[in-house]
Amino acid sequence: MYEDLSLYIDGEFVKGGGRKEQDVYDPATGDVIGLLPHATKEDLDRALAAAERAFEKWRTSSPMERSKVLRRVGELTRERAKQIGHNITLDQGKPLAESVGEVARCADHCDWHAEECRRIYGRVIPPRQPNVRQMVLREPVGVCAAFTPWNFPYNQAIRKIAAAVGAGCTIIIKGPEDTPSAVVAIARMFHEAGLPPGVLNVVWGVPAEVSNHLIRSPIVRKVSFTGSVPVGKQLAALAGQHMKRVTMELGGHSPAVVCEDADVERAADMLSGLKFANAGQVCVSPNRFYVHEKVYDRFVARFVDKTKKIKVGSGLLPETNMGPLAHERRLPAMAEFVEDARGRGAEIVLGGSRIGNRGYFFEPTVITGVPDDSKVMTLEPFGPIAPCVPYKDLGEAIKRANSLPYGLSSYAFTTSSKNALALQNGLQAGIVNINHFGQALPETPFGGIRDSGIGSEGGSETFDGYLTTKFVTQMD
Ligand code: NAD
Repeated sequence: MYEDLSLYIDGEFVKGGGRKEQDVYDPATGDVIGLLPHATKEDLDRALAAAERAFEKWRTSSPMERSKVLRRVGELTRERAKQIGHNITLDQGKPLAESVGEVARCADHCDWHAEECRRIYGRVIPPRQPNVRQMVLREPVGVCAAFTPWNFPYNQAIRKIAAAVGAGCTIIIKGPEDTPSAVVAIARMFHEAGLPPGVLNVVWGVPAEVSNHLIRSPIVRKVSFTGSVPVGKQLAALAGQHMKRVTMELGGHSPAVVCEDADVERAADMLSGLKFANAGQVCVSPNRFYVHEKVYDRFVARFVDKTKKIKVGSGLLPETNMGPLAHERRLPAMAEFVEDARGRGAEIVLGGSRIGNRGYFFEPTVITGVPDDSKVMTLEPFGPIAPCVPYKDLGEAIKRANSLPYGLSSYAFTTSSKNALALQNGLQAGIVNINHFGQALPETPFGGIRDSGIGSEGGSETFDGYLTTKFVTQMD
């Protein structure tokens, strides 16, 4: 049974003005599994009015009250992880264990925000005169508009909602129309947890129309987007015109550097596991593999070996390690990366094609000998394609790793502390992982630099995007 899809406005689950509905597909079969109602302009205006009204009370609510709601949603998330995960596999395609794991881990995001929202402190600054008091207060920024993508439909949405709700903001979220079940399930849990009407609102529609309407509205004071770099730039520009604060979690093209002294087999196994998780549709997926020439052949052989063992199929089958791509438009995108590389003399050492003609399956693909200016080395593939290239010295590898305008995540494998230090200092990215993938926890920062975005949704930085600073000075 798939989720009953609806809008959530002012504390009510509604089907909207009812003019438009969109089919939701199972990417493993291409079959229609649900109908998603779109919001009319009137529905969006109702959501805006509800969020504005609710903000008047929620902004001064006790952090204990916010904490209680978030904790309850954490409990419900644990209880319902299997059902919600099942629906994510139906509309997004990832293997059931990955879907259920995504939801279950997000309970931790609820707990963490429930704790941290009680510690949103201001400060007192010593005055220059004895009869003066100087204080810094942190206040919720106001009504937020959030736009979340289809690759981690639960995770991306709960991060934004938990931070906004915890900070005392109200929020209108447009989730991913391709994979809507998770966001509707989240709204149900907040509803049952007693969140006052209007604090959280969920809308659906044509993405550009919804974002344009919400961002231009004077009611909205903050915009948070997770998605592609070009769309992020458009939304940030629009928000800038209206002087609205933004958090932008955009794409990357994460490099992975494997040094001569690395544990090569471990690096190959770990990187293959990470690369093909969620069929490569991960903003922090390792995408360009720079391997020292002395260990290059060994690395590629092991990487291919490990990758060959990946079982591709319906995410509902227990033996599946990699599901289909999340929607049909990713298939021609993958073919284009492969053809461009082939045309430039690269060798497709594994995969390279669509699997069958039912569902959106694509082979785990490994490419070698691909030039640095090819499409797959310069544009985010956002799919199961791994290009590997050799390098001679570490300085050169770091330079090539930094040669794109992005800077989200980066990976490196080395056993030398000298190399580790050079990599920590040299790699230009918001996240640097050395011999380890330790990212996306609620307590650690998550965000990119350069074209990969602005701000962090994770760690103690998380509330910064949802709070304003008020300086109060008073004389007796
Ligand atoms: P896309 O750019 O069309 O859409 C990406 C997401 O942004 C979708 O959820 C979409 O609904 C939303 N979106 C698109 N235009 C919008 C607008 N004007 N206003 C508000 N939301 C809008 O790309 P796609 O084909 O769906 O996905 C492929 C690309 O998206 C990838 O290459 C990847 O870079 C990027 N992406 C990134 C992330 C991430 O976590 N950073 C997640 C999903 C997709």
